Amino acid sequence: MSWQPPRAPRGTADILPEECARWRHVEETARALLERYGYREMRTPIFEATDLYVRGMGAETDVVEKEMFSVGGPKGAAGEDERAYSLRPEFTAGIVRAYREHGLDKTRGFLKVYSIGPLFRHERPQKGRLRQFHQINVEALATGDPAADVEMIALARDIARALGIEGFRVRLNSIGDERCRPAYRALLRERLLPRLGALCDVCRARYERNVFRVLDCKRCVALTSDVPPMADHLCEECAAHFAAVRAGLDRLKIPYAIDARLVRGFDYYTRTVFEFPSERLGAQDALGGGGRYDRLIPDFGGPEVGACGFALGLERVLLAMPEAAGPASRRAAVYVAATPEPGAREAAFAAAMELRQAGIEADLDFEQKSLKAQMKAADRRGYRWVAIFGSEEIARGECTLRDMAAESDAEAQRTLQRADLVEGVRRSIEAARLTS
Ligand code: AMP
Repeated sequence: MSWQPPRAPRGTADILPEECARWRHVEETARALLERYGYREMRTPIFEATDLYVRGMGAETDVVEKEMFSVGGPKGAAGEDERAYSLRPEFTAGIVRAYREHGLDKTRGFLKVYSIGPLFRHERPQKGRLRQFHQINVEALATGDPAADVEMIALARDIARALGIEGFRVRLNSIGDERCRPAYRALLRERLLPRLGALCDVCRARYERNVFRVLDCKRCVALTSDVPPMADHLCEECAAHFAAVRAGLDRLKIPYAIDARLVRGFDYYTRTVFEFPSERLGAQDALGGGGRYDRLIPDFGGPEVGACGFALGLERVLLAMPEAAGPASRRAAVYVAATPEPGAREAAFAAAMELRQAGIEADLDFEQKSLKAQMKAADRRGYRWVAIFGSEEIARGECTLRDMAAESDAEAQRTLQRADLVEGVRRSIEAARLTS
């Protein structure tokens, strides 16, 4: 009896070759725009010391309290002296650690970076919510300039637009900073105290530890509807910053909705916070979001400089994209088919190798299929051309090139001198490029 391997872990997804084409299309479109905006790629480890996330996102956030995949620590499997490590549940803390660790705060100062990769949160899996998911993550480090916040939102809008995602929207709020937040926190607690018993269990715990999160609880909406918005209690500097962000968006004609309930999940946020809801994902799910985190670099021992960032969830982007968006279905590539006659398969293999050496994508059959089945395989796999080798063609020093995108049979096939195959394919690729 053969062994049946267990299924993939809950909340993970295999991305099969056909889907990878869509993934790559999203990643490449985003990369091109990010580079156009002056962001450069940065890659950090997929796991970090657990402390980094505890101090970065905050000990009392849902992700840190309940959702980290962690190993090691004093009692962990990795040994007595090992510290605890966690698979990264978000990018920002690792990016800021690396920024400091390599002295980029001193040598570079202002830095625009992006990362694309997997993240891990032990959440209850559902549509668009996985335990291993992927983000396109963007950071502008060492800037307090409201123009950076505006640029982030414009960039996210451009990525969505380039991917054909319609109905891109922005929810925007300011949650102030360490100067104005304490007074608002006190006000919030005072207002909510008489209603404490009516709050949901989660919010009762939040009342003590992170009262702001009560505002974004769907179940307690009715109990918080008369609470004055944070935006009305900002200090002068935060109010000026928020006004500058709004004015910048207005100048770019990017519509946004101020949402006093938007507080977002991590402790490091200050001032601007935003989210990109998507109609196709339903009311509660966002394509992405971000904001300013002006205390994180100084809290990690760096200079007194601000920063902001955002992330788009790749799975969410793929869900929100129209089905048809993606690379053209036929590639400028050749499937080399052979008849079952002696010598034909060898001739096909040699031709495929020659095309590859010339820089042209080519492949062939490895399953002893009939010619008809090879043509079908070429079609299914999206090859634009099929080069056909039979004993007659080989004897005459020729081969047949079939255009799988041709409108009629008469136009589809032509005979080439075998020696001219590479050149003939090159010309066909060029002609197809010009007419597309
Ligand atoms: P966050 O890091 O929580 O601010 O999330 C930013 C974006 O990442 C969200 O708007 C989602 O698009 C995506 N995201 C967050 N958590 C998950 C998850 N568990 N599964 C899939 N996407 C997620």
